[in-house]
Amino acid sequence: MLNPAPAARRALPAVDRLLGTEAVLALIAQYGRTRITATLRAALDAERERLAQDGAAPYDETGFLQRCAAQLACTSAPSLKPVFNLTGTVLHTNLGRAVMPESAAKAVYAAMTRPVNLEFDLDGGARGERDSHVERWLHELTGGEKAVAVNNNAAAVYLVLNTLGLKREVLVSRGELIEIGGAFRIPDIMSRAGVKLVEVGTTNRTHLKDFAEAITPRTAAIMKVHTSNYVVQGFTAAVPEADLATLAHQHNLPFLVDLGSGSLINLEDYGIPHERTPRETLADGADVVTFSGDKLLGGPQAGLIVGRKDLMACIAKNPMKRSLRLDKMTLTALDAVLRLYLHPEKLREELPALRLLTRDRDDIAAQAARVQPALAAALGGHWRVEITDCKSQIGSGALPVDSMPSCGLAIAPAEKKGNLNKLAAALRALPVPVIGHIRDGTLTLDLRCLDHEDEFVTQLQHLKASR
Ligand SMILES: *Cc1c(COP(=O)(O)O)cnc(C)c1O
Repeated sequence: MLNPAPAARRALPAVDRLLGTEAVLALIAQYGRTRITATLRAALDAERERLAQDGAAPYDETGFLQRCAAQLACTSAPSLKPVFNLTGTVLHTNLGRAVMPESAAKAVYAAMTRPVNLEFDLDGGARGERDSHVERWLHELTGGEKAVAVNNNAAAVYLVLNTLGLKREVLVSRGELIEIGGAFRIPDIMSRAGVKLVEVGTTNRTHLKDFAEAITPRTAAIMKVHTSNYVVQGFTAAVPEADLATLAHQHNLPFLVDLGSGSLINLEDYGIPHERTPRETLADGADVVTFSGDKLLGGPQAGLIVGRKDLMACIAKNPMKRSLRLDKMTLTALDAVLRLYLHPEKLREELPALRLLTRDRDDIAAQAARVQPALAAALGGHWRVEITDCKSQIGSGALPVDSMPSCGLAIAPAEKKGNLNKLAAALRALPVPVIGHIRDGTLTLDLRCLDHEDEFVTQLQHLKASR
């Protein structure tokens, strides 16, 4: 520990005096006396050490208090905040997947700030069922007799397997032993759910007879898993769902389908390749279907389970349901989003995920032309900013090989010396961080998901300041 020179030590103010200054009183109004006092004490200690060093610049109160204010602003800022998703991946898992409609946000606000009939039957005045709020919409939209909603689709798959397959065997094709996002692997979920996985067929080809031969008295179910984030191409064979359902039912076994994304509408009507719906899957004979709330459905993070009444009753009664259930905010948002589907004519307009997924390339190109001059001006002469064609992806493992024509801004160094990683970091440091992607010496901002265009342009001035 260095010993401050007596003169320097004397130059430092007491905390009590600082607390009375006008600048600090303003900080107290914002952050409170407790936090300010602690911050000043720590900053004065650091200052004392600094002054003990040879040749240290003398204490400057204005600069000192400015640094304290900046530190407070930094350490008090929320960690989770809005960003601009210009990655080109619409349902980006790391950026919170689906953006939700205003109607859902308003409903959630009310549910957060007031008591709600979460588990209260307003007709009978007795205890109610929390999933009942979304069950009627899910019944109407999928045809499933009953519905259960849990924290996410991984939880849905877990709950279904644990309920229907505990200590028994579930048959899955080797071509469907998927891994999603690193942490969700069908074999791991199976073993954690207490189910023995029986792999059937081969990676590229699985036939009905493979399943038939694998059925034993220990078999609890046949399961099909949507190969969300990859495709097997070439010499392949998979068993149609209807045939698997028939086989399962001949042996009195339930047929389970994990659909993954599970769109509730025919995406082809909107110019996007078809993704099987829960309704089609149930109609083909599936007994229980699981899918996500925040993928193509465009709602909050949730896992939805729909299907046969008797099986669903067992799933709802599993004690683990309590650990996986939805809270009132998510249920409220889900209710609001599902109700939009009752009015399909307005869905594209009302549901942000669908609006962004189906945005016209020309519309995006027009936006690129509006935004390009502002970005070029903010970045200055060291960077070239060009309007470029690009391809957006749906994301979250839906239709992994399909892409939508889009338009964006490609940023590249005008001379050789611009550092793209530094530029990307500067964009991420903006008040509303801008996230693009770097490939082949270019930082591309795909504008498909650029809402709040004015805010985007206005905050570019901060780039000039940091240039
Ligand atoms: C995405 C996905 C999951 C996991 O769903 P989450 O909602 O992210 O938990 C499970 N199965 C399949 C087939 C998926 O595509």
